[in-house]
Amino acid sequence: MVRPRSSKPSTGIHTAPRASKPSAPTTGPRVLYWFRTDLRVHDSPALTHALSLAPSALIPLWTWDPHYVYRQRGATNRWAFLTECMRDLSQRLTALNARQKLFVVRAAPRKVMRHLFERWGIDVLVFEQDTDPYAVIRDEEVTKVAERCGVRVVSVPGRTLFASREVVRMNAGRPTMSMAQLLKAVEKINGGVPARPLDAPTLLPDPLDGQAMDLTALEAELDVLTRKDHKAQDHSRAAESWPRAEGLDDYNAVQRTFREQETQYSCGLMGPGRDFGVPTLQEMGFDPASVTTPHRGGETAALEALAQHVANEEYIATFEKPATAPTAFDPPATTVLSPHMHFGSLSCRKFWWDVQAVIERRRKEHKPVSHQPVNIPGQLLFRDMYFAAHCQVGVAFGQQIGNPVARFIPWHLQSRYRRAGTDPHAKLVTDGTYIVDDAKAEEYFQRWKHGCTGFPWIDALMRQLKQEGWIHHLGRHAVACFLTRGGCYVSWERGAEVFEEWLVDHEVACNAGNWMWLSCTAFFSQFYRCYSPVAFPKKWDPEGKFVRKYVPELQRFDKKYIYEPHKTPIADQKAWGCVVKGNGGSGGVDDVEERGYAVYPKPMFDFTERKQFCIDQMKKAYAVGLYGDDERVVSGEWKKLFERDDDGGMWREEANGDILVARGEKRSRDDGAADHDGEDDSHDEIDVGDESLDVRAAKRKAMKEQPPTMGKQQRTLDSMVSRLRVKR
Ligand SMILES: Cc1cc2nc3c(=O)[nH]c(=O)nc-3n(C[C@H](O)[C@H](O)[C@H](O)COP(=O)(O)OP(=O)(O)OC[C@H]3O[C@@H](n4cnc5c(N)ncnc54)[C@H](O)[C@@H]3O)c2cc1C
Repeated sequence: MVRPRSSKPSTGIHTAPRASKPSAPTTGPRVLYWFRTDLRVHDSPALTHALSLAPSALIPLWTWDPHYVYRQRGATNRWAFLTECMRDLSQRLTALNARQKLFVVRAAPRKVMRHLFERWGIDVLVFEQDTDPYAVIRDEEVTKVAERCGVRVVSVPGRTLFASREVVRMNAGRPTMSMAQLLKAVEKINGGVPARPLDAPTLLPDPLDGQAMDLTALEAELDVLTRKDHKAQDHSRAAESWPRAEGLDDYNAVQRTFREQETQYSCGLMGPGRDFGVPTLQEMGFDPASVTTPHRGGETAALEALAQHVANEEYIATFEKPATAPTAFDPPATTVLSPHMHFGSLSCRKFWWDVQAVIERRRKEHKPVSHQPVNIPGQLLFRDMYFAAHCQVGVAFGQQIGNPVARFIPWHLQSRYRRAGTDPHAKLVTDGTYIVDDAKAEEYFQRWKHGCTGFPWIDALMRQLKQEGWIHHLGRHAVACFLTRGGCYVSWERGAEVFEEWLVDHEVACNAGNWMWLSCTAFFSQFYRCYSPVAFPKKWDPEGKFVRKYVPELQRFDKKYIYEPHKTPIADQKAWGCVVKGNGGSGGVDDVEERGYAVYPKPMFDFTERKQFCIDQMKKAYAVGLYGDDERVVSGEWKKLFERDDDGGMWREEANGDILVARGEKRSRDDGAADHDGEDDSHDEIDVGDESLDVRAAKRKAMKEQPPTMGKQQRTLDSMVSRLRVKR
């Protein structure tokens, strides 16, 4: 989107005097380059555009936006990765021009941008296009302000192989719900070939001089001196679109163990050093000792890692995702470049082309190569598929209610919703809490989250996720299937939130999209194919090395019992230093020691029974055939169709007998499900249930007409620690 330069109308607002222009060798525009999704200098179409304007001054800006700080879940590991990326980028900018760096301004962009335009005398604002729903609203607001200030705005696609909006356009305005649809759409864009990566710049223009950059006077003008202001007093449209539950003003409060010492906003726009420095973890209230991820951020690290992978020609050219071991950890079996993709410290086009060059070379030499979609370019196309779908659906893509592409399944622990804004017809969006409709499901969820389910494979993965912020794709499959349709029957929204909190590579589009895939609510529908928590890992890792690393209390167990330690004779349990008993305790893995033995919990349920229970529930939900945007879903009328017992907000878990098949209501919006492209599901360890949907003719049971009631509400963050009742 390149907007025409507007003339400068009177803004009607107080305008600070423009900083005097430095004696620059050129009369070009003053350009504000706003870094967001692109923490790199290589292959940046937006930065390249900014430099093509021959700026008289270029200010590389990062706004430390309270929305992300307080309203998106994120454990310390991800903040550490982000700040490493920011510091590395700053150093790379300085290497191109000793006067340059990343200028971090600690304020909401919607609030501060007008003042920056005016103080710094900006002519053009340039950034990489971001199609996430929050970013779209934010950018619209900033663009309006810019236009009022006479600042031209240039938004350049670059985050994906193909511009997501263009992909949607080529898919007839619909979300891309399968690889086949994506490939068809991108074929119409440059024949399905991504643009070649652009070189990094070799020079950068200067910023303004120190005095002109200084924002001390502005700090006094703006109310930026209290943290409270940033958390609670944002009345913008963007903030209204993400309503908060009462008392839930900081989604990351649980992580902020140094809350009293948090200074990230209390030291002004330019930070404590008055130098626009990158915030530290301590300033954010995080304990640096809580950084446990081995994954390092920054463009420098990303390019080194990519170069190492590409040098391993055999690995890169024959990579087949379903053949990579989810149990490998030293090193992992896939590239682990996803955190760099998230923060833009690696360009997806550079990744694609560097790998493609190896594949092409080998093809010419008649050596074996792997193919889409299981090879690496195929993996990057999956990313594009989720981005384009998310871009079209918007905020509803990340939730069940109101989501036009998600089948409605009456999971336990569904999100609580509020209207976005004051309009009674405004869309429903989650407010960060969820409904505890079933105590058992809540226990399953907490034990899943904290790695104490009693299934060592699941627990090892969840502990790896929490410690390191990354797990292998098939590991993500296993835990996601287990939480939703393959065991716990808990809403995928709960799992997506835990991933949002702990993944270093968390990406709204890929996370929600993959959770919908795994829970068979969109993209994929073969719900009778479940991952066994025993047979599946045994195939990859018969010795149980992965479990021994992440569940060290089972380190000495014989491989015969490593995936089912509760079957170990008690004498052996004692001989191997760990007794299997209890439920993992309220605190998770660090349970009490009993007479010198470690304790590992018993399995929290009989997997085979639970799997069958879930398959039965899925059959019913598919037969009813509702989608998230169905009026009956939005209004809560779905409870009648699923015979919800609303008594006390609890939900009867037993199968409810016959149900209504709402004929004519079934839709197939996830029409990509059938052509699921042989992705990694082909390598699932399948506990095959009923292969056919075998939907019985169903009849409606007599149901009492009663308005839906809400169950208990609970914080989604760490409800084992703190609970919140939300007034109805
Ligand atoms: C339940 C669930 C949640 C997920 N959440 C996220 C998330 O929040 N962020 C995220 O980036 N990925 C997510 N994924 C997708 C995938 O698991 C990761 O991208 C991948 O494991 C990252 O490891 P890698 O870089 O070694 O991947 P590689 O196998 O080396 O693949 C190369 C790149 O392709 C992209 N990619 C690969 N697989 C996928 C996929 N299925 N969907 C989208 N992009 C893909 C990634 O950018 C990745 O870095 C999720 C998958 C599941 C099943």
